Amino acid sequence: CGAPASGKGTVAEKLVEAFGSVHISTGDMLRAAMEDPDNEDGQTAKQCMAEGVLVPDSIVISLVKARLSQPDCKERGWLLDGFPRTAAQAEEMDRLFLLPDKCVILDVPKAVLVERVTGRRTDPETGKIYHLKFNPPKVDPDDESEEAAAKATAETEAIVARLTQREDDTEEALAKRLEAFDSNRAAIEDAFSAMAKVVDGNRGKEDVWQSVKEFFAA
Ligand code: AMP
Repeated sequence: CGAPASGKGTVAEKLVEAFGSVHISTGDMLRAAMEDPDNEDGQTAKQCMAEGVLVPDSIVISLVKARLSQPDCKERGWLLDGFPRTAAQAEEMDRLFLLPDKCVILDVPKAVLVERVTGRRTDPETGKIYHLKFNPPKVDPDDESEEAAAKATAETEAIVARLTQREDDTEEALAKRLEAFDSNRAAIEDAFSAMAKVVDGNRGKEDVWQSVKEFFAA
């Protein structure tokens, strides 16, 4: 769990790599559902996301329930990224006995989140996420030749040119998303207090990962 741009996706990727569990990001699932103009829930989600408000609990819960009942989740275990986000979602997990072994809550100051979100960009071809200032695209040359350097520069420029910004990564939508996170944070922390750890997410990726790893090893 964590606010927008607190590093949930990055930590989730590393956890999945380390434990082989199924990565379930409700944000990604909702974005996929949005692509289908005939998917009513997807279209509702699209509107909510553009406004920066949470998607109704009923839609998100049914998506998560359907995904968790698939065999890969039972075999490999699951990692929820961005869910639960409300008291009702946490209660539903409890009701369905979907109890996590561990819960990581990433803590990042608001000013840092704003800077992270407004500079965040996605490469639509690879799905890779960059930050214009902190993590801009950079293709390394294959060797030390001038030709390889020119090719790498051209590839980097091509990535930069096709980067897109998430519709809800604007300052206006972010203000609402942060508000929603603030008002739900206590409920999530309470629901998982027995297995939760608050991790300082305002550090480099490796330092954050080190803390998460230690918590999982404990
Ligand atoms: P994320 O990619 O996790 O930042 O989520 C992007 C947007 O998807 C959020 O701002 C919400 O509008 C919606 N969303 C994702 N997960 C949830 C959830 N668990 N409950 C409600 N809305 C969600």
